[in-house]
Amino acid sequence: MSHEGLLVVVSGPSGAGKGTVLKRLKDSDDSIRFSISATTRTIRQGEKEGLNYFFKTRDEFKSMIEAGQLLEWVEYCGNYYGTPKEYIETTVKEGYDCLLEIEVEGAENVKKAYPDCVLIFILPPSFEELKRRIEKRATEEPEIVAKRLQRAREEMAYIENYDYVIVNDKIEDAVENLRSILKAEKLKLNRNRKMIEQFKH
Ligand code: 5GP
Repeated sequence: MSHEGLLVVVSGPSGAGKGTVLKRLKDSDDSIRFSISATTRTIRQGEKEGLNYFFKTRDEFKSMIEAGQLLEWVEYCGNYYGTPKEYIETTVKEGYDCLLEIEVEGAENVKKAYPDCVLIFILPPSFEELKRRIEKRATEEPEIVAKRLQRAREEMAYIENYDYVIVNDKIEDAVENLRSILKAEKLKLNRNRKMIEQFKH
């Protein structure tokens, strides 16, 4: 592929349905790759090492930080999460669009490192709906539910950093909106400089 791919960062409260929206898009588009984060949190039922996350001990995670392997990392609800740098750089160079599903502080740091990246915030239709969705997730303890709701409120303070907002009411609409954003981003003048240059001679 001649073009560099897009670096796309997606955030939003847990329960916004980010994961489902992103998976639907990926399944319908061969040019998309997911960045796989490292984390110290315990593995949930149905998750797979190297597919959902690289599950690490705290010491292993610290070694990754010290070796400069992480583009960004944060402590979130008592666990560490971080984005391995090498994979996303290679992926984008090869022309794939690389999607990162990370929280708001990480997104801010990725934007600082790569100003060309696209920041997208996914919201549920209402706060009530968010509460309902988080409570429905039987995998979480009650105090974790409360923590995540509080965190959702705090995360809203970062929304100004984002380029786009998608409300995930109907999943197909959310996926279609995401697809449209990527399409439009690729048509931006600044991403097409090389092609434009040939017309100037
Ligand atoms: P979960 O434990 O539900 O999988 O993820 C908790 C939060 O951490 C989510 O908001 C998720 O997007 C975020 N997250 C996952 N990986 C990373 C990462 O590498 N960096 C940052 N900053 N956040 C991450």
